[in-house]
Amino acid sequence: MFENLSERLSGVFDRLTKQGALSDEDVKTALREVRVALLEADVSLPVARDFVKRVQDKATGQAVTKSVTPGQQVVKIVHDELVHTLAGDTEDPGKLRIDSPPAPILMVGLQGSGKTTTTAKLAKRLKDRDGKRVLMASLDTNRPAAMEQLQILGVQIGVDTLPIVKGETPVQIARRAKTQASLGGYDVYMLDTAGRLHIDQELIQQAAEVRDVTNPRETLLVVDGLTGQDAVNVATEFDDKIGVTGVVLTRMDGDGRGGAALSMRAVTGKPIRFVGLGEKMDALETFEPERIAGRILG
Ligand code: GDP
Repeated sequence: MFENLSERLSGVFDRLTKQGALSDEDVKTALREVRVALLEADVSLPVARDFVKRVQDKATGQAVTKSVTPGQQVVKIVHDELVHTLAGDTEDPGKLRIDSPPAPILMVGLQGSGKTTTTAKLAKRLKDRDGKRVLMASLDTNRPAAMEQLQILGVQIGVDTLPIVKGETPVQIARRAKTQASLGGYDVYMLDTAGRLHIDQELIQQAAEVRDVTNPRETLLVVDGLTGQDAVNVATEFDDKIGVTGVVLTRMDGDGRGGAALSMRAVTGKPIRFVGLGEKMDALETFEPERIAGRILG
């Protein structure tokens, strides 16, 4: 992820830092190239435009261009604005609100986004790092294979799953998970909702019903980071219809262009909380804007 963007930006900044003295015009030219690089990385147009404007406002004028190392100053401003764009005012993306047990976490997303894998990764993280007792339940009544997949992952990571009972509706499963989590003394129960290839009425209604009976502390939307602006559109729609408290971007280990990561917060107002970096159960990291900005700037 970010390889092309990173390469493009380092080309622009190498030239800028080698140049020595800089005029406002030099900065503007460089920032035009930055804007093109962002758009090629599939960053949404308003986000790219705002980003460049903010950098330009800070980088033009006496203070920067007359400094001893003007190029480096511009790079520093770009870095800070990247962090700002990625993070907004999110405090600690990795801190989940799971105080009053059993805390429900609702996992939503399209089929194939990595939702079931992410549910298990997150359960493992809560167990291993925070010492929490976690119960997972699959609500994907349309796809028995998906229910079995979660069960298999549960065994693999040593996290309990709610036994599968044929013929139940998603809401009935959610209720049973809630009861089981209370009776069994679990800290957290995670509900892996059904995914579809597209957002449709039934998908939204089901997720909304489950939300209403469980009142989740966190509703995490899992989206495929390789899908660029589409990922952002999916997030906007899920948030409008169901309300989400954060986003998990998967496949950040792939060779996508990175636009989803950069646009998500600014467009949807929702923070990215975690990133998926592979198929293995420990390939999940807290979203760290500083680190991502560092990777983008090489
Ligand atoms: P779901 O339909 O949304 O529940 O998707 P799954 O959890 O079944 O994931 C679909 C495929 O994507 C599986 O083969 C996962 O191993 C894979 N996958 C999930 N997350 C990641 C990730 O962060 N990186 C990579 N490379 N693959 C992932």
